[in-house]
Amino acid sequence: MDIEKIRKDAEAFTKEIEEEYYQNLGGFKDELNISSIYDKYAHLFTRDVVDFLRKLRDGAEGEEKRQNSMLYAFIAGEYIGNLTKELDERYMTEDAKATVKIDGKDVPYRQVSIMISNEDSREKRSMMDDLTDPIVERHNEILKERMLKLHDLAEELGYGNYIEMIEDLKGFKIRPVKDMMESFLRETEKVYVDTMNEALEKWGITVHEAERHDVSYMFRAKEFDRYFPKDGVVDNWKATMRGIGIDPDSQKNVILDTEERPKKYPRAFTMPLDVPDKVILFITPHGGQDDYQAMLHEGGHTEHFAHVDRAHPFEYKYLGDVSVSESYAFLFNYLPTDGLWLKKFLKMDDETVERYLRFAFLNKLFFLRRYASKIIYEMELHSKRDIEGMDAKYKEIMEKGLKIRHKANRYLLDVDDGFYVAQYLRAWIFEVQLRKHLMEKTQREWFLSRDAGSILKELWSYGQKYSVEELARMIGYDGIDAGPMAEEVKGALEK
Ligand SMILES: [Zn+2]
Repeated sequence: MDIEKIRKDAEAFTKEIEEEYYQNLGGFKDELNISSIYDKYAHLFTRDVVDFLRKLRDGAEGEEKRQNSMLYAFIAGEYIGNLTKELDERYMTEDAKATVKIDGKDVPYRQVSIMISNEDSREKRSMMDDLTDPIVERHNEILKERMLKLHDLAEELGYGNYIEMIEDLKGFKIRPVKDMMESFLRETEKVYVDTMNEALEKWGITVHEAERHDVSYMFRAKEFDRYFPKDGVVDNWKATMRGIGIDPDSQKNVILDTEERPKKYPRAFTMPLDVPDKVILFITPHGGQDDYQAMLHEGGHTEHFAHVDRAHPFEYKYLGDVSVSESYAFLFNYLPTDGLWLKKFLKMDDETVERYLRFAFLNKLFFLRRYASKIIYEMELHSKRDIEGMDAKYKEIMEKGLKIRHKANRYLLDVDDGFYVAQYLRAWIFEVQLRKHLMEKTQREWFLSRDAGSILKELWSYGQKYSVEELARMIGYDGIDAGPMAEEVKGALEK
């Protein structure tokens, strides 16, 4: 076996998969033929290659170990994915085909959550949510089998359990992230309950009485729509980027696809087709505050990929710590939690800024507490093979963290593979530290500083070579720390 050949094929495989998704999600063709690409590269995803790369990694040092670790994690992940492929396909097919009857009409199951967030009547929201229960129960049959399979595969690969496997593949410990978030939950408990009650008051319910559908309706926040018009989505992002000295219109390697096509995937996403030479950002603007955030988020990913050093090996350009790219995406995503940015770029008046900031920080706090609860739950879920009784555990842990009512049957649906929850949390934590660093090195309004742009370009050039913990140390911290994140949210919401 030859590592250079494996590396070359892994890169070719990645690019072919990206291209296939680009064609499908971009709405250029109906089919998605990833299995034929998997077949073509089947020689990469065998147990022998997995074992070979693991041994090579264990014996390597320094730069070589860094690169080999990423390649091993990638191949092992695809090896596992290959063995759960049939269950995934069955699940995706059922998910896409499922419908519920609402007002006598067959509505695709996948559209129900959007309808719920737009529905003014509480009764009707609750009814729509209940209608999805039978579909969720059917999904659970497949998801349960899939979860047990993942747990078995971890043992087959020689790990004590799934948690140990993910820690080894991703190169960071999950427990410290969970511990940090448990303190975060304690520290923000009072301000969370108070602010949620204040926000829910106009519908006559308390946080303990609220259901998940009430909260998704509340965070839809129609009242702010007029500040976030559809035709301003892209220009707002471009203007923001010019503030730090980057002009998207003159970047030849950044392609913006804003065209409305019937089969184009409706949500914003980034396709790094050839890092750093061809990065495509897809968006079909529809307006609203969440659309602006989605554009800023994907714009962060796009500029990161577009500035990666061309000389890097495949691993640093495409693999590595995904929390890194998510941090850069969050950095721009959360600009609407900065009053000065709201005034400068959206021309909001003082009174609206104050109201919007309360909304935006409560929204952020809700998500942070939700992911904090999820990581606690997922550590229990993955600690042993058997998942009996985890549905009740899910309800208990989520309700302890968020107070609002949860349905136990969402206990497998609400889980992303490979502790992605921890990677998001590390990104949220590091983003606050990075932003503070930019402000200290440049100015309070860092988003109007070319120097901030230069600092970012330097960090972006590394790709995902370094982890967020390493980057935090590089810019002067002891490591990642959720303290500043808790302080910021509390400062914004406490009265
Ligand atoms: Zn992202």
